Amino acid sequence: MPLVEMKGVSKRFGKVVASSGIDLRIEDGEYVTILGPSGCGKTTLIRMIAGILEPSEGKVLIGGRDMDGVPIEERDIGYVFQNIALFPHLNMLENVSYGPIVKDVSEEERVSVPRRYLELVNLLDRMSMFPSALSGGEQQKVALARALASGARLLLLDEPLSALDARVRMDLRYELRRITKDLGLTVLHVTHDQEEAMTVSDRIVLMRNGRIMESGSPEQMYRAPKELFTANFIGETNLLDGVVVVSGDDRTLVEVRDGSVVEAQPSGFEPGDAVVLSVRPERVHALNEGLKAVVRSMSFMGTYIRVTAEADSEDILEFDIPVPRGGDFNVGDNIHLGWSMGSALVYQRPPGGIAEAVKLE
Ligand code: ATP
Repeated sequence: MPLVEMKGVSKRFGKVVASSGIDLRIEDGEYVTILGPSGCGKTTLIRMIAGILEPSEGKVLIGGRDMDGVPIEERDIGYVFQNIALFPHLNMLENVSYGPIVKDVSEEERVSVPRRYLELVNLLDRMSMFPSALSGGEQQKVALARALASGARLLLLDEPLSALDARVRMDLRYELRRITKDLGLTVLHVTHDQEEAMTVSDRIVLMRNGRIMESGSPEQMYRAPKELFTANFIGETNLLDGVVVVSGDDRTLVEVRDGSVVEAQPSGFEPGDAVVLSVRPERVHALNEGLKAVVRSMSFMGTYIRVTAEADSEDILEFDIPVPRGGDFNVGDNIHLGWSMGSALVYQRPPGGIAEAVKLE
């Protein structure tokens, strides 16, 4: 049975439509991230599941039960908010105990349960400290331990790692996934960080403008996004305007703006169709023949060099070369660029143009 279901859910704040026609199922034990640009409605969505906000339309079900009118404390969820909210006057053990105390468990469990979760996040030795004596990362871990200690099967995490610096964030990502998978919990995790979403999720739900654009496993969303917006938002990509000249079962041939013809995946489009090609930087290579381009910049990135080239078609293409081979060409050189047929995905050219279709609004 799906643990969480949203059916036709919309939420309006006056004239602002924060959620629109949301249909979402989260299976028992699934780790789902809600990803999308700032203001797209992620927090609104998770707050409706938590019971902090009521939908304007539609239904939220948890464990098959309609949540209409059910307050947050009766929804059996663990919740970690965007800003860490530990009780400043309670020490770590007391902070983590808050859940079990509220739930009225036995005397023994009141101590053993919080201790177990503090141990899980490697902070048992800090249990008598107060929040002010802990780093942001440690406080975040305690907030997570508190949510876990509540005994809830469903964890709602709203940007749980956003306040932390990059290194701590990376460590905590792996811990989050490991701990919640070990405990068999269902997790809904809101983030605007696509790398975070790729690392922790079984499934990513990508939102834009209050709507769900697309959802799938991290690999599906990266390798075969259905929407141009997804191709551009998840990972990096090069987008080229073109027109289909040959459409076969094995490949699509597309003429780009300088008249060159390039290969792409089979697509079902017809000759004459206006399309956009999406090719990831790691799939683009400097070759002996292919699209003519001029190297505009080369940036040392540590393990690779990021090259920006301007094609004769006026498309800007970015690609990477390994550092030992960095001397192959220089800024200003004429080069040829290409990719294997399977590396280019084909999308219908959006009527409003590429920029409009991928805009983060
Ligand atoms: P961020 O990543 O920046 O936190 P988000 O994707 O979580 O953004 P929401 O916080 O859900 O986005 O907001 C969605 C839209 O609804 C925004 O336009 C926001 O301004 C608006 N909104 C959210 N809460 C309210 C409110 N209480 N009153 C009015 N408008 C609101």
